[in-house]
Amino acid sequence: GCGGARPVSAEAEEAGETDTPDAARPMIALTFDDGPSVHTERLLNLFAKYGGHGTFCVIGNRIDLLPDTVARAVREGNELAGHSWDHCQRTRLGADKVTEEIESTRQKIFELTGGACTVIRPTYGAVNDTLMRVAKDLDMIVVNWSVDTLDWKTRDADATYRAVMQGAEDGAIILCHDIYSSTVDGALMAIDILQEQGYEFVTVNELYRRR
Ligand code: ZN
Repeated sequence: GCGGARPVSAEAEEAGETDTPDAARPMIALTFDDGPSVHTERLLNLFAKYGGHGTFCVIGNRIDLLPDTVARAVREGNELAGHSWDHCQRTRLGADKVTEEIESTRQKIFELTGGACTVIRPTYGAVNDTLMRVAKDLDMIVVNWSVDTLDWKTRDADATYRAVMQGAEDGAIILCHDIYSSTVDGALMAIDILQEQGYEFVTVNELYRRR
């Protein structure tokens, strides 16, 4: 994954292919767009507490605002996905521009963390042939979500909590935005309950490898 993502051990790979109880444990990928923000570290704290990981779909030009947060996220095994340099709508850009903004974000992540970024989270969920072609050329995967919490709209911790819980199932990719305090409050509540229910919190890359 991006830098800190743990390599898959032979054991884990084997577990993924057999019916061991561990392999049966439901997994969920919580993804947080538009950060990093001052609220991000509260999520890192809880992921660290439960030994889980999230995927942080960062905006390139925000990385220098909170370099310690970004470095910590990677160090602790979370994944950084590229969510564009400046939240441009990529489907309005030509291949050269798209390549440039993806590369500049990836380069920024590499400079700070030494890690490779392999996941592209589209802005506005917008995907077209150009983006897919650029992603393929850069050997990156484009990943949207299966559940949109609409947290940006409700800006309400309980509503976000309910949306995460309603969408939670094995293999779900949940979209949240860690720029809102209410989102982080709601996500923290959901993570506590999902943890009790046996869920494993995995990065997008880990979900792809194992499901
Ligand atoms: Zn966004």
